[in-house]
Amino acid sequence: MEQENKQCEKCGDTLVKCYVADGLKGLLVKNPEGDRLFSNKKNTNINPYVCGSCGFAIWYADEPKKLL
Ligand SMILES: [Zn+2]
Repeated sequence: MEQENKQCEKCGDTLVKCYVADGLKGLLVKNPEGDRLFSNKKNTNINPYVCGSCGFAIWYADEPKKLL
């Protein structure tokens, strides 16, 4: 998992990498195209990055290439 610093696109402060309380590894999202396969492998976990200053939040996928 990459740990690069991401900056808030609203105020420029540093975003804090967070996780959702229901899943420590993040929310699992799936590419609907993968539903045609027997088992949908086109999925990845996403985690929110939240700005500690203004509260702006943005989601990033851990393994975006797996969606392709
Ligand atoms: Zn901000």
